[in-house]
Amino acid sequence: MDFDTLFNAQLDTLKKEGNYRIFAELERNCGAFPRARCHDVDTPDEVTVWCSNDYLGMGQHPKVIAAMKTAIDSCGVGAGGTRNISGTNHEHKLLERELADLHGKDDALLFTSGYVSNWAALSTLGSRLPDAVILSDELNHASMIEGIRHSRADKVIWRHNDPEDLDRRLAALPSNATKIVAFESVYSMDGDICPMKEIVEVAEKHGAMTYLDEVHAVGLYGPRGGGISEREGLADRITLIEGTLGKAYGVVGGYVSGSRAMCDFIRSFASGFIFTTALPPAVAAAARTSIAHLKDSQAERLRQRDRVATLRQRLDQLGIPHLHNDSHIIPVMIKDPVKCRQLADILMQDYGIYVQPINYPTVPKGTERLRFTPGPLHSDADIEHLAQALSTLWRRCAISHAVA
Ligand SMILES: *Cc1c(COP(=O)(O)O)cnc(C)c1O
Repeated sequence: MDFDTLFNAQLDTLKKEGNYRIFAELERNCGAFPRARCHDVDTPDEVTVWCSNDYLGMGQHPKVIAAMKTAIDSCGVGAGGTRNISGTNHEHKLLERELADLHGKDDALLFTSGYVSNWAALSTLGSRLPDAVILSDELNHASMIEGIRHSRADKVIWRHNDPEDLDRRLAALPSNATKIVAFESVYSMDGDICPMKEIVEVAEKHGAMTYLDEVHAVGLYGPRGGGISEREGLADRITLIEGTLGKAYGVVGGYVSGSRAMCDFIRSFASGFIFTTALPPAVAAAARTSIAHLKDSQAERLRQRDRVATLRQRLDQLGIPHLHNDSHIIPVMIKDPVKCRQLADILMQDYGIYVQPINYPTVPKGTERLRFTPGPLHSDADIEHLAQALSTLWRRCAISHAVA
């Protein structure tokens, strides 16, 4: 049996549709971010990264690097076990306390990634709570969708960011159901922000739990980086806040935070928490340092906001349509997978600008886009270079200026 024929048939379909993923092989350059070395053929040696989720450059912050090195020197590299069997390090507990404090909650629980935290927490809540029904925003991240699916709980999809639709769907559920409303604060592909207060009020009216993914907001919003829930003063009304240490905090890992009983429940029943080696203590130390820094420092957030506004303004002046939103994410809609990939290739090859084309299934077909995430370390010259390159390509490819 030639199994490769089976694999290749499906890969060929992806390629024909223009949805085959090609990863850029980068070598990040500590101290020079957003510059990176590119190891692909036909590309300049050095490129400027315009699509990083290391939103604030914390992945190369001297304090964060020092914390990781110090912890390696004192603890070595690995945790040495699962959290249950010898792997709970003092650094994990310190980080969990830092996270609980960040969100004003009793406790927090660390996972190996944000994906795993969503998958494990939602599958545990959905499978173990009596008569659980999970009400999921239609644009929720794959990690939540997979967690809900794995829980086998009843699932209700509500219209994106629509509290009235949520209200109607909650009202239709039986009174004995344990209702869990799962949603995000900043949706990373369109960059839109949820109407959190309205959603929380609807959930409270129906006695539903709220499960909030703040992955694209922690570190970035709120006076201490506690996310949109902190900025809006709503964190104490959210049952569970989930986040990542891999995006604005620049390291890796995921977490949930909430009441002591809820964290204890997930700790005790979630297979994705129990049966996997704990994060290296040095990762925990670096993440804690990054969180603590961004609790005090506004400089990175303010500079990022300035960079985002500057790029938006230049795109407007040059007539390049982009989705308007209130976040740090600038989607330039291309609406065709092949064109999207071609534009990204030309930007990389001719201009040294790296932006990953975003195609199906990350976004619906017909909404393919280039997604720019300006950060505090993009210079005026970087922004101008990008704006001029897009302007030139826009004319060359004759993409309608009215698409967005
Ligand atoms: C990236 C992402 C995650 C997963 O976080 P990781 O730490 O990268 O695994 C979860 N939710 C959303 C909305 C994300 O974009």
